[in-house]
Amino acid sequence: MTATRTAQAHPLLARLSIATHGSVVDGTVDGPSVVSLNPATGEPIASVRLASTVDLDGAIARAHSAFELWRDVPAPHRGEIIRLIGNEFRRLKEPLGELVSLEMGKIRAEGLGEVQETIDIADFAVGLSRQLYGLSMHSERARHRMFEQWQPLGPIGIITAFNFPCAVWGWNAMIAAVCGDTCIWKPSLFTPLTAIASNEIARRVMREQTLFTPHGVDPADVFTLVIGSDEAVGEPMLADRRLPLISATGSCRMGRRVAEVVGKRLGRTLLELGGNNAITVMADADIELVTRAVLFGAVGTAGQRCTSTRRLLVHEGIVERLIERLRAAYSSIPIGDPLNPKTLMGPLIDSRAVVAMRRAVETAVAQGCTVVCGGVEGIERAAAKPGNFVEPTILRVPRGTVPPITCEETFAPILYVFTVASLDEAIALQNGVDQGLSSAIFTDSVRSAERFLSAAGSDCGIANVNIGTSGAEIGGAFGGEKDTGGGRESGSDSWKAYMRRQTCTVNWGGDLPLAQGITFGT
Ligand code: NAD
Repeated sequence: MTATRTAQAHPLLARLSIATHGSVVDGTVDGPSVVSLNPATGEPIASVRLASTVDLDGAIARAHSAFELWRDVPAPHRGEIIRLIGNEFRRLKEPLGELVSLEMGKIRAEGLGEVQETIDIADFAVGLSRQLYGLSMHSERARHRMFEQWQPLGPIGIITAFNFPCAVWGWNAMIAAVCGDTCIWKPSLFTPLTAIASNEIARRVMREQTLFTPHGVDPADVFTLVIGSDEAVGEPMLADRRLPLISATGSCRMGRRVAEVVGKRLGRTLLELGGNNAITVMADADIELVTRAVLFGAVGTAGQRCTSTRRLLVHEGIVERLIERLRAAYSSIPIGDPLNPKTLMGPLIDSRAVVAMRRAVETAVAQGCTVVCGGVEGIERAAAKPGNFVEPTILRVPRGTVPPITCEETFAPILYVFTVASLDEAIALQNGVDQGLSSAIFTDSVRSAERFLSAAGSDCGIANVNIGTSGAEIGGAFGGEKDTGGGRESGSDSWKAYMRRQTCTVNWGGDLPLAQGITFGT
């Protein structure tokens, strides 16, 4: 702990004006804390004090008081405030994006892209603030009006994964807030500084609002952050009936636990879990496009996106050519400091992720796969540098086999290449795993593309044509089927998950007719 830099010492934190925030502390920490480490060097960035279950209890109580006032603020007015928050993210995009890179290890362009997603979703939420539409229905009873309206739900629990330390909160928080909910955010302990910075940006804007002044409630409590362990903070959040919705992003293992505990109290969950995403490549595909899409999908973010491309299902007519293209492209990928603009692949999040990648590669080889590039040798070569670096790996799967390891999500840049004889074979392989997040086909045939998009085609929440599996836009609903959890976040009508639907019937006549023509008594 003594080697820990002070918060004031880190220039990015100072640029984000979070140097004096109470959670970020220097080397001498009273009570439990977590050290945020730079995955590219293994060096500490700063320490963060960990919250207790008692702190969580207080935070939920504050978020509840804020909710009772925030829900009464007209939605378009809430949208105006979200617009100001979005503008603050615009102003601070560069230092915040660099903090994402520093703390999580994704390259600078992707760090900035992640903040851009938060800006985009804030803009989307502003528009939504005037579009939280309900339907009206024709009543079967004379002089009755029937309609449905959407009401705020309450304080929402948001649990996020390390790999999108800003944007996933943004997707949830901007939409939840415009719907009239307040937010309690438990981030990953790998990325507490990005969480503090992101949440502080929103809180600073809220503090300038005078909305709640007569009530003595801090408007900043619309956005509450609780950084703590799964035991002290995560589990109690799941069990707390004051949180009607838990939106959780992370592994399938975590999602199962969330579903179990929240389901037991009949609460709602929005689950965004692991993926095992495939690109199908037909013989008529544009090999240039495929190569670029595979590089971004399998190597980008060092394979640490939920939508990363993990399997390539290639028609036998193009497989040899494509493998040679990919081998050449993989050999020239600049790996290193994520803040260096020339770098295309940064480190994995920690040394355990490196060990997990090595184990997966060894298992794949034991199950019959052959190394095209990278492999254990590549992992050992990369280990010569400090930090959690690896070399991206391509493994070729023996024809007609499905090695069990290829059905698992290993959060690392491993690509399994299968050879197929037909689109039907590719679709069966693609859908033959437990996860159902993202999928893609590369083809110039309308017939193949439409077959892929048909009801008997891809079973995933995302299905793309001539676009890779990763890099979704915020305008669509984002999420996946099967073990990916079934939740939808971000655009389209995902906002409905953050509200409760109320069906209303108003009798403006002088009689009391019953539905279905029932007569009761007189
Ligand atoms: P993880 O499951 O280890 O942790 C995710 C979050 O859940 C963390 O904040 C963690 O502290 C919390 N958590 C874990 N157990 C908990 C419990 N019992 N109670 C409460 N909280 C608990 O995942 P990770 O390693 O941070 O992220 C990688 C995983 O996330 C991958 O599987 C990836 O596919 C998935 N992911 C999915 C999406 C999506 O939108 N589908 C997006 C990003 C990441």
